[in-house]
Amino acid sequence: MNVGVSGGSDPERIFLEIRGIAEAVLGILKELHRESRKQIDSHTLTEKMTSCDAIIRIINEIRSSCPSPERLSVVSAIIVKKLVEIVPESLSETQGRSGSGLHFNPERQDFREWIELPFQVIKDYLNREKKRNSELEEFTKQTMSYLTETERHILSEMSLNQQKFQDDRDFEENISHNMACIKDNITVSEDFNAVKMAVMSTIENIKKGIDMKREKDREQFRETEKNLEDMTRRMTEIKKEADAMRKRSEEIEFQSVHDYLTGLYNRRAYDLRMTETLAHVKRYGITASLMVCDIDYFKKINDTYGHKIGDLALKKLASLIRERLRINDFVARYGGEEFAIIMPHTDMQGALRTAEGIRSYIASAIFAYKDLKIPLTISIGVSLFRGGDSSASVFERADAALYLAKRSGRNRVRCEDDIPADLPA
Ligand code: GH3
Ligand code: MG
Ligand code: MG
Repeated sequence: MNVGVSGGSDPERIFLEIRGIAEAVLGILKELHRESRKQIDSHTLTEKMTSCDAIIRIINEIRSSCPSPERLSVVSAIIVKKLVEIVPESLSETQGRSGSGLHFNPERQDFREWIELPFQVIKDYLNREKKRNSELEEFTKQTMSYLTETERHILSEMSLNQQKFQDDRDFEENISHNMACIKDNITVSEDFNAVKMAVMSTIENIKKGIDMKREKDREQFRETEKNLEDMTRRMTEIKKEADAMRKRSEEIEFQSVHDYLTGLYNRRAYDLRMTETLAHVKRYGITASLMVCDIDYFKKINDTYGHKIGDLALKKLASLIRERLRINDFVARYGGEEFAIIMPHTDMQGALRTAEGIRSYIASAIFAYKDLKIPLTISIGVSLFRGGDSSASVFERADAALYLAKRSGRNRVRCEDDIPADLPA
C-alpha cells in the first residue's frame, strides 16, 4: 500500500509505523465503542493513546531513528490520511481543521498536540455512531412497542376462542420465537443496518405467520359455519319431527278419551270422571247428579234414512246437548245412542231443570239433511250421587229412571224418585 510519503523518508518503514498506530487507535476505538454509553472526548482519547504501549513504542522508535520534526509531521499527515480511510464522512467535516492543526511544534516536542486533532475526527465519528445508536434504539423501541401491541391483540384474540387453543399456542410460540430473534439481533449486532434487516425479516416472518393463522381461522370459521348450518337444519328437522310426534301424541291422548263420531268424551273418560266424582262425593260430601239420555226410536231413524244420516243426527244431537250444559258439566257418549252427563254441585232439582231444558231443546230442534226434516227426541233418567254409591249403583238408578221415561211414552224426563218400588225390570 502506497501512503504517498515524501521528503526522503523510508516509505516502507513509515507505512509500518503508521499501520501500527492505526491498529492501536482502532483497538482503542473498539474498546471505547464497546463501553458505548461512556462520554468520549479528545482528552480521553489522548490519555488512552499516550498510555497505549504500542503507540509509545512506535513514537519512541520514530524519535530515536529520526528526531526530525519533519518526520513527525509526515507521520501525523499520514495518520490523517489513514483516518480518511477509516471514517471518510466524519473527516470531511473536519478536513478544514486538519490542514492547519497538524503542525508539530518542534520546540515543545510534544506529540500530544499533533495527535489530538486526528482524534477529534475520531471523536466526531464516535458521536455520530452514538447518534446512529440512538436512532437504532428509537427504531427498536417503536418496533418492540408495535410487536408487543400486536402480541397483546393476538393473545387476547386467542383467549376468546377455546377451541383453537392448541393452534393458538403454536402461533403464540412462533410469535414469541420471532420476538426473541428480534431481541437477540438487537443485542448481538452492533450494525444498525444489519439489525434493521434482521428486524424487518422477522417482522415479515410474523406477518406471514399472522396471514397463515388468519387463513386457518377463516377456514375454521367456514367449517364452523357449515357445521352450524347442518346443525340448524338438523335441529329444524328434529323440531319438526318432535312437533309431529307431540301432535300425534296429543291426538292419541285426545282419541283415548274422546268419541271419534261426536267429539264428546267416551266411555273410558266417563269411567274416570265417575270414579273422581264418587271420591269427591264421599270425601268432601259434594252434591252431584247423573243424567242418562237415550235417543227415542233411533233404530227407526237408521232404518228410514240410513246409517249415515243416523250418524249425522247423532253428531248434531251431541252438539245440542253440549250447548245446554255448563262448563263444569261432563258429557260422554256412553254407548250407541246413549249419553251420560255428570253434573257436579247440582242437586236433583237443578239436574231435572237442566234435563228438561235439554229434552225440550232437542225436541224443538230441526234435524235437516238436504230436503229431509227428521224428528228426533230423547228420554232422560236422572239420579243423585249418594255417599255409599258405586259407579254401577248411581248409574242403575238413572238407567231405571230412563226406562221409566221410555215406558211413560218417551221424550220425557224421569228421576230416581219417580221410580215406583214395583217397577218391573
Ligand atoms: P228406544 O226408543 O227404545 O231406545 O228405541 P231405539 O230404537 O232407540 O233402541 P234400540 O236399542 O232398539 O236401538 C238402538 C239403535 O241405535 C240401534 C243402532 O243401530 C243405533 N245405533 C247405535 N249406535 C249407532 C251409531 O253409532 N250410528 C248409527 N247410525 N246408529 C247407531
Ligand atoms: Mg239405547
Ligand atoms: Mg234408543
